Amino acid sequence: MNSPDAPPPQDDRYQVVALRYRPQSFGSLVGQGHIATALSNAINQNRVGHAYLFTGARGVGKTSSARIFAKCLNCEKGPTTEPCNDCDTCQSISVGEDVDVLEIDGASNRGIDEIRQLRSNVAVRPSRSRFKIYIIDEVHMLTQQAFNALLKTLEEPPGHVKFIFCTTDPQKIPITVLSRCQRFDFSPVETDKIALRLKEISDTEGVSASTEALQLLARRANGSMRDSQSLLEQLFSFCGDEITVQEVHQLLGTTDIGRVGEIAAAIVNKDTNGTLALIHANLSSGVNAGQLAGQLLGYFRDMMAVRVGCNEDTLINCAGPDIPVLEQHGQQLGLETILSTVQVFDNAIVRMQTSLHSRTLLEVAAVRACGLEHVDSISALVKALSAAGNLSAASQVGEKKAQKKKSQPK
Ligand SMILES: [Zn+2]
Repeated sequence: MNSPDAPPPQDDRYQVVALRYRPQSFGSLVGQGHIATALSNAINQNRVGHAYLFTGARGVGKTSSARIFAKCLNCEKGPTTEPCNDCDTCQSISVGEDVDVLEIDGASNRGIDEIRQLRSNVAVRPSRSRFKIYIIDEVHMLTQQAFNALLKTLEEPPGHVKFIFCTTDPQKIPITVLSRCQRFDFSPVETDKIALRLKEISDTEGVSASTEALQLLARRANGSMRDSQSLLEQLFSFCGDEITVQEVHQLLGTTDIGRVGEIAAAIVNKDTNGTLALIHANLSSGVNAGQLAGQLLGYFRDMMAVRVGCNEDTLINCAGPDIPVLEQHGQQLGLETILSTVQVFDNAIVRMQTSLHSRTLLEVAAVRACGLEHVDSISALVKALSAAGNLSAASQVGEKKAQKKKSQPK
């Protein structure tokens, strides 16, 4: 029997990392424990529904879970919560080629005709397994008419049919369809769990990778296991058998957090000239302007978190040892100015997406950030002024009232 996590032997068809290391059982599904438990319980208690909706961001394991669930139900040694991954059925479901588990891409089969065809096939019994299982990916792409046609099947499904719908966008699914599904929300995978999985994969591939490098990759994947594995794969071909932080930065077009801190320090000290020189040095060494803007935004975001008293766990871009500097700079700038700085970089990043002049936009943002006045002291001043204004206005009203009283005839 194949171990569920071991990569299949290499053949002449090279398979990408994300596919090769796709989880084959609930046990190896990372970061979705609550879903694995609920689906396993349903199988153990013989309470499997006829329609499921898996929602969540891309690359968090929706389609993998759908396949695992299908194997649980149709494995020749099942129904079971631990499919054998060895029988013909399990193996053909794993590669998406089973006769009774039909995977449909909702984006390219979105019309009424495709769903009508599905409806006429639904009545036909499965050819060799217990259930006929339809996995519809990106189901939100179906047209309204297609949904209506699907609804008729969902209302009275034959006992041998199961539906598993996957979507990144559940809001686009009609409520009538939603209400006939058991819904499972997949969470973004935590950074530490992604990093751990990347470590297992690099070990299996015989590549040594530093913890810091993998953490950096995992953070960049932003909760998507698949994205993290695609990045890792690029690094495999980029680095050979050793992966360092520097190489990850090179691949991502980013710079290390120390150099981001240097630019931030220059901004805090309103050293416009120094800020531009540091940006120039970074861009000359291959850093991408858009990435650097994002890193600066992230750095000031962490400064904001520290400024309002958050602890190390809430830092996204910096780490524990950076806290004293963040504290000092945060105090120097004041909260309002930090917020304005974040806004300045965010605006620049948005504009960079439609501009050919990323570098200039980054520089303009940096100069603007250097020029931000100490907003906290300005707002204190404005408050003081308006308080004084109210005072004088109030005293004027008082005087007028007094005058009116005087002029009123007795
Ligand atoms: Zn099996």
